[in-house]
Amino acid sequence: MSAKDMGHDWSESADVVVLGFGLAGAVSAIVASDQDSSADVLIVEKMPERFVGGNSRASGQTIFCPTDRDALRRYKMAMDEPNPLPGPVLEAWLDEVVVLEGWLTTMASAVGHRYVHTNRGNANSVLVEFPEFPGSECVKFNSTIEPNPSGVWNCFHRHVEKRRIRTLFESAATKLVQDPDTREVLGVEVTSGSVRRAIRAKRGVVLCTGGFENNLAMQRNLWGVDRVYTLGTPGNTGDGLKMLQRAGADLWHVRNVTQSGGFWPAFKVPEFEAAFMRRSRLTHFSFIEIARDGRRFNNETTPYRLRHAKQLIHGRWVDAPHAYVTPAYMIMDKAMMDAAPLVGWFSHPIGWNSVVLGYEWSADNRKELGSGWIKQCDSIAAIAQETGIKEATLGRTIAEYNQSSAEGIDREFGRPAGEMLPLAGPPYFVIEIVPAIVSTTGGGRRNAHGQVLDHDGRVIPRLYEAGELGAANPNLYQSGAFLTDCLAFGHIAGRNAVRERPWAN
Ligand SMILES: Cc1cc2nc3c(=O)[nH]c(=O)nc-3n(C[C@H](O)[C@H](O)[C@H](O)COP(=O)(O)OP(=O)(O)OC[C@H]3O[C@@H](n4cnc5c(N)ncnc54)[C@H](O)[C@@H]3O)c2cc1C
Repeated sequence: MSAKDMGHDWSESADVVVLGFGLAGAVSAIVASDQDSSADVLIVEKMPERFVGGNSRASGQTIFCPTDRDALRRYKMAMDEPNPLPGPVLEAWLDEVVVLEGWLTTMASAVGHRYVHTNRGNANSVLVEFPEFPGSECVKFNSTIEPNPSGVWNCFHRHVEKRRIRTLFESAATKLVQDPDTREVLGVEVTSGSVRRAIRAKRGVVLCTGGFENNLAMQRNLWGVDRVYTLGTPGNTGDGLKMLQRAGADLWHVRNVTQSGGFWPAFKVPEFEAAFMRRSRLTHFSFIEIARDGRRFNNETTPYRLRHAKQLIHGRWVDAPHAYVTPAYMIMDKAMMDAAPLVGWFSHPIGWNSVVLGYEWSADNRKELGSGWIKQCDSIAAIAQETGIKEATLGRTIAEYNQSSAEGIDREFGRPAGEMLPLAGPPYFVIEIVPAIVSTTGGGRRNAHGQVLDHDGRVIPRLYEAGELGAANPNLYQSGAFLTDCLAFGHIAGRNAVRERPWAN
C-alpha cells in the first residue's frame, strides 16, 4: 500500500512547497505563482524572518547573464572542464541565461529598483575571469540590481511579498515524505521549535536550501579541508544534501576540482558565527602571511578577488593555498594598521556580518585590536608566543622578507616590488587568517527540467531543485554565476513544479 493510500498526518497543504527563502526559493515561488495564479505556493524557511535571504542577501549581488549564446556555451564548457554538464542541462541553462536581462529589467523596475551593468574592467574589478578560455568574449558586462547592498535579493523579496505566496519562518525542513514504492515526493516534514509537522505538497517540492558552508564536519568529510568558515548565512548547514541522500538522489558537484566560489582569506572571531572577508584588494603592503611552519606560502598581494581565489599553476587553475596551510597568520606593522580597514569594500558591504548584522569594521582597525581580534606583539618573541611558532623561524622569515623588499625581488613567490613594503616593527600586529567560502555547489543531480535524479538516472517524481544546492557550476566560476543559477533554475524548477498534476485535492 502506498503512502498516498495510507494517508499521512498532514498538518497543512500547498500546491508547491519551496524549501529555503534565498534567491532560488524566491524566484521558484514567484515563477510558480505567476505561471498559475490559482496555485497555493508556500515557502518554508529555517531562519527567523529578520534573518531571511540566505547567502543571496549577503552576497556581492553580481549577476552573470551574457547574451551571446554560442560564445557563452564555449566559455561555460571550458570553465566546467573536466566535469561538463550533460548537453540538455547546459542547453536549458543557456535558454534561461541569455534572456535574463529583459526579465531582470522588468522585475527591477516593477518594484522601484534598477537593473544595471557594472564592472567595466577598472583596476579594482575584472570583467572576464578566464580571458584565455574559448568563448570568453561573451562576458561584455557584469550586472546587478541597485540599490545595493542586497539589491538583487531585495528586489525579489519584494516580489514575493507582493504576491499571494505564503511563508513559514523558523521552520526547518528535515525530511521529504515519499511514497515508499515509487519514491514520489508527497510532502515534507518540518520542525518548528519542538513542533514537528508534515506539510503536503500536492504538485511538488522545490529544494532551495543552499549549501553546507556552515557545516564544518561536512566541509571536512566532503571537501577534505581543515577549517573553513562561511561568509554567508549561518543557516546553510547542508540540510538539503541530507534530505537528498535520504530521498535516494544521486549527488553531483559536491567536490569540484576547484572550490568554485573560492577559499578567501578571512578572519573568524568568537562573537560571530560567520567570518569576515579580508579586503580583497589591499591598498597598503607592509605585511606578510605565514603558515603553521612560520614560512610565507604565497604572493600575498595577488588580487585573489579577480579570479575567485584561484591561481594558475603549471597551466591549470587551482585554489589559492589558504585552505591548505591552516593555521595561518597575517603579520603587519603599524603603518598597515593605520592605512585602511582590513575588512572593507570598493562599492557596497558584502558578507553576513556586515550586511545583515550591521557590523562596521573600524577605519584604523583599533576597535578590533580592542576586541582582542588583532593582537599587538611588541617583539618577535611575543609573536612566537601568540602563534606557537618558533621565534627563530619567525625572525628568519621577517628578515628574509625585508631583504626581498629592499632588493625589490621576491624570488620565492613573485610578489611585485611596489607591493612589498618592509615590515617595520616592533610593534607587530597579528591576526589569524582563515579560509572562508561564499558557496558550495554540491546537491542533487538535476535534469534539464530541474528535476532531481536517482542513481539510475530516473526522475524522483515531484522533486525539483534550484540555486546553490546542486548548482550547475561543476568547476570554475565566473563572477555572478551563483545568483544566475538561482535565476535560471529558479525559473525552470518553479515553472515545472507548478505544472505537475496535483496528486490530492
Ligand atoms: C559574501 C558572499 C558574496 C557572494 N557574492 C556573489 C555574487 O556577487 N554573485 C553570485 O552569483 N554569487 C555570490 N555569492 C554566492 C551566492 O550568494 C549564493 O550561491 C546564492 O545566493 C545561493 O542562493 P540560494 O537561494 O541557493 O541559497 P541561499 O540564498 O543561501 O538561501 C538558502 C536558504 O535556505 C535556508 N535553509 C537552509 N536549510 C533549511 C532547511 N532545512 N529548511 C528550510 N530552510 C533552510 C537558509 O536559511 C537560507 O535562507 C556570494 C556569497 C557570499 C556569502
